[in-house]
Amino acid sequence: MKIIAIGRNYVNHAKELNNEVPQKPVFFMKPETALLQKNNPFYYPEFSKNIHYEAEIVIKINKIGKYIDEQFAHRYYSEIGIGIDFTARDLQQEQKEKGLPWEIAKAFDHSAPISTFVNLSDYQDIQKINFSLDINGKRVQTGNTQDMLFSVDKIIAYVSQFVSLKIGDLIFTGTPSGVGKIKIGDKLEAAIEGQTLLNFEIK
Ligand code: ZN
Repeated sequence: MKIIAIGRNYVNHAKELNNEVPQKPVFFMKPETALLQKNNPFYYPEFSKNIHYEAEIVIKINKIGKYIDEQFAHRYYSEIGIGIDFTARDLQQEQKEKGLPWEIAKAFDHSAPISTFVNLSDYQDIQKINFSLDINGKRVQTGNTQDMLFSVDKIIAYVSQFVSLKIGDLIFTGTPSGVGKIKIGDKLEAAIEGQTLLNFEIK
């Protein structure tokens, strides 16, 4: 499986990092070794001094597809979860300044904690889902998928022109504003529609 992640998909987040609002979806990938599951702790790596959290709705692909038409894209997923796209912001900044790829800052081990997945039929509309992240009991991010620049179906249509999607692939759909640093000892709790699905500690 692979993890596809969308950058700058919420205008308020693109602006907080002084990034341009993109005309087309921006995507990058994380390898399977980036996964962190079952609420296991995240061990702060030695190569960065500025790891940021980014809470994101995650789509699980349930069918193989290539050149998926936007109008049929909804047939390619039935479950969603919430994940954190951990980003070594210091390393990413160096890469951005040099115009180099982001993998060193985005694809490292356990940079993609994910929750258990819930059935989409529990919700009315994929583009009307509230989600949030609390750190040590304090709310740091809130988002609603209606604020995505590119909808889930548009993302699937766009990405599948270049990369075939396979069963079990995950798509991180971008983060709203409010990103910030994590530190050792932090407790992260991420929720969809008020239901905590991801709950783990930084060690
Ligand atoms: Zn992200």
